[in-house]
Amino acid sequence: MKSEEDKPDEIKGMLVKYLHQKKEDGQRYMELYPGETVKTQVTGNVRPDFSTLQELMEWMGDCQKCKALAKNRSNIVFGDGSPNADLVFVGEAPGAEEDRQGIPFVGRAGQLLTKIINAMGFERSEVYIMNVLKCRPPGNRDPQPDEVENCNPFFLKQLKILAPKVIVALGKYASQTLLDTKIPITKLRGTFYDYHGIPLIPTFHPSYLLRNSYGKKDVWEDMQEVMRLLNELG
Ligand code: URA
Repeated sequence: MKSEEDKPDEIKGMLVKYLHQKKEDGQRYMELYPGETVKTQVTGNVRPDFSTLQELMEWMGDCQKCKALAKNRSNIVFGDGSPNADLVFVGEAPGAEEDRQGIPFVGRAGQLLTKIINAMGFERSEVYIMNVLKCRPPGNRDPQPDEVENCNPFFLKQLKILAPKVIVALGKYASQTLLDTKIPITKLRGTFYDYHGIPLIPTFHPSYLLRNSYGKKDVWEDMQEVMRLLNELG
């Protein structure tokens, strides 16, 4: 007889089996919470009528919603790339180099991301890159839930303006935050989920790949899925 402590593992195992079965059956999209929309909603006093990234950026201005982040940052790292991109990459939060330059993914992990983007046949300027958080958490600590909540209306507005065909969530943090789940990235990756009507695929973060190069094969498989879907969507 199984103890109470065994149950979460058992449930996780069943869930993973179910996800694999669905993938084998050719299902490309999963609803994490069938019948429910993702819980992250636009909250607060964000104006509903921005039509350009420039307008949104100007409205954000010198955002002071997260005191600790605003005090320590050198730059708000808004995003980088084409406002008409079909493909958007979402990371966790800026690191030291990103904070210094005001551009996402320009450090070592960023250089690897650029290589992945190039291997997919794109220039960085043809896709769009952004983070869940726009300011660097001091000492590269994890973003706090209230910081994510503060930044989320900007994030959602930005995505709404961009209206990409596909989103790639980079790593555990971005994937779990956007999908509002604690399912491990190893289980989430490689499957498309619905994110506010846009297909979102989680994959490993490039900084994880710098430490674990065997993950590169998985990421490349995921990117091939992305290219297939982009082709399909035309
Ligand atoms: N890691 C991230 O998640 N985002 C960046 O912009 C840089 C590193």
